Amino acid sequence: MYLIKTIKGDITKVTDVQAIVNAANNSLLGGGGVDGAIHRAAGPGLLAECRTLHGCETGEAKITKGYNLSCDYVIHTVGPIWNGGRNREEELLANCYFNSMKLAMDNGIRSIAFPSISTGVYSFPVELAAKIAIHTVNRFLQDNPDCFDLVEWVLFDTHTESVYESEVDKIY
Ligand code: ADP
Repeated sequence: MYLIKTIKGDITKVTDVQAIVNAANNSLLGGGGVDGAIHRAAGPGLLAECRTLHGCETGEAKITKGYNLSCDYVIHTVGPIWNGGRNREEELLANCYFNSMKLAMDNGIRSIAFPSISTGVYSFPVELAAKIAIHTVNRFLQDNPDCFDLVEWVLFDTHTESVYESEVDKIY
């Protein structure tokens, strides 16, 4: 069995997972928000490895080592920029979660932490993002029930945390 949980905090400080997910941009060369925090905490080795990846399409995911972070791996995924919902944003956000879980599973990663992808600078509405996030990951876990021990959402502010928490409550 696996555990799904939400906590309020800084994803760079999480110590109980093998991989953390980065809400990156298409360049994979760092940015603001959680991306900047992860690069600062991981150190310059992360940027050096990211340069070899030649970017990432929206909804796709790529993996690197964790460098100075306490996790072994960082999975970089690129969320959609919210544009009123007319540009397949919902599908692309679901792809971020599915492809991150698939990449983790394919690398033998059994514990993973996600931030709230796309709901910062990319302006995706938090309520809708949380529904998509929890639903997509829960479906993946049901389809692959022996592959994970822990999925953790690490939310930076109280409102986001309460929205994700209430979505998690709905699946139990
Ligand atoms: P995006 O460009 O995908 O919207 P952002 O980094 O701007 O990504 O925001 C995504 C979410 O991550 C927001 O809820 C933001 O508050 C949150 N966030 C920012 N820094 C951290 C951090 N260190 N740990 C966890 N979440 C963070």
